Amino acid sequence: MTTTQLNRYAEVTGEAVINELRQLAKPLQGMKVVHVNSTKEGGGVAEILNKLVPLMNDLGIHTNWEIIDGNQTFFQCTKSFHNGLQGSVVELPEAMLQAYEETNELNAEKMRTMLEESDIVVIHDPQPAPLLRFCPNRRGKWVWRCHIDVSHPFRPVWKYLRNFVVDYDASIFSLADFAKTLPHPQYLIAPSIDPLSDKNIDLEKDEIAAVCKRFKIDMDRPLITQVSRFDRFKDPLGVIHAYRLARKFVPSLQLVLAGGGANDDPEGEAVLDEVHAAAADDPDVHVLLLPSDAHRTINAIQRAADIVVQKSVKEGFGLTVTEALWKGKPVIGGNCGGIRLQVIDHHTGFLVESPEGTALRTRYLLYHRDKQQEMGRKAHQFVLDNYLITRHLREYLTLIHGVTHGSGARIEV
Ligand code: UDP
Repeated sequence: MTTTQLNRYAEVTGEAVINELRQLAKPLQGMKVVHVNSTKEGGGVAEILNKLVPLMNDLGIHTNWEIIDGNQTFFQCTKSFHNGLQGSVVELPEAMLQAYEETNELNAEKMRTMLEESDIVVIHDPQPAPLLRFCPNRRGKWVWRCHIDVSHPFRPVWKYLRNFVVDYDASIFSLADFAKTLPHPQYLIAPSIDPLSDKNIDLEKDEIAAVCKRFKIDMDRPLITQVSRFDRFKDPLGVIHAYRLARKFVPSLQLVLAGGGANDDPEGEAVLDEVHAAAADDPDVHVLLLPSDAHRTINAIQRAADIVVQKSVKEGFGLTVTEALWKGKPVIGGNCGGIRLQVIDHHTGFLVESPEGTALRTRYLLYHRDKQQEMGRKAHQFVLDNYLITRHLREYLTLIHGVTHGSGARIEV
């Protein structure tokens, strides 16, 4: 990424924001940073790292991105952790935990030199959390970045994972509700979107129309959309229920449920089957299974919608919410986790607790187009002020200063 490309962000955020990033990055020139997660595609973490890593390199920080490999048992185990951290009761058989730790040990063998020699290692979510234990000669600072809604975890899962997390130098959570009792500093950093990516860039009307035509979506009729992996915490069945209730008042309503799999999510297929069964043969429910690089298609679908829904019952942050708000769409979001940071009830959308609530708010917004547009304007401005990648980058740079400055009382930037 060239300086000119970084400058392009100034067109969105203003010059001062970019200058501040350069100033913060200056003392960190040449530093080695590595991010580790469990998939290059699918889900919010991959979406963020795809943008954050090149920008950190652009700022003169040598940043790598590594993936932890695992077999089916490993990903079933880490999906159980994910479900458990978000409050589900799950089984933790000894053999599964052993496979989890052994997989980390094998991965550590492959990446040990890089990990031990890096100045900053950022480990994302539970999948690679034990890597630290297998890097005894580490020289840098290690940070555990949790993207999950861990406000009310199933205790045995957190108790087990905490054993690995306590050895880190710091951790990052998306919001204060998720912070935990830990013996190191905890940073609160919300995720972000890239306004210049294919997922979020402005699109011509013709391109949006072509995508609608391709999926037989009628642009002259109202449309609600949820874009999400097929995951029970995203409650796609609740969205279908809400659509059916709202259709009693808006008979021409259409619904798009667009999603794809993530390599580290083994439950997607089963949930997709349930969604197909619930959608039955309703021609106005469009269940779209998209490839992981269908960014412009998703962009177009979000722009074609009158209202975007994210009816999650647990949500670490919900990048899809930010993406929709950025496109000037009011969001009807589940009243949980990171959605609460973004959906300011009655201003950028509505927070809901049930399919009935979702249907009621859908009907309201479709009957009050002026309100829909006013909320959409506020929504876009709210993302501009708070949730763009430039703010995210600034907070990462600040964190690096924080964890590396030692015991000095002053940090010079
Ligand atoms: N996404 C995608 N294709 C899909 C479903 C989701 O590209 O079929 C993207 C979506 O646009 C968003 C990210 O994946 O950028 C999902 O992030 P979010 O935080 O909403 O949820 P997560 O999957 O991380 O729980």
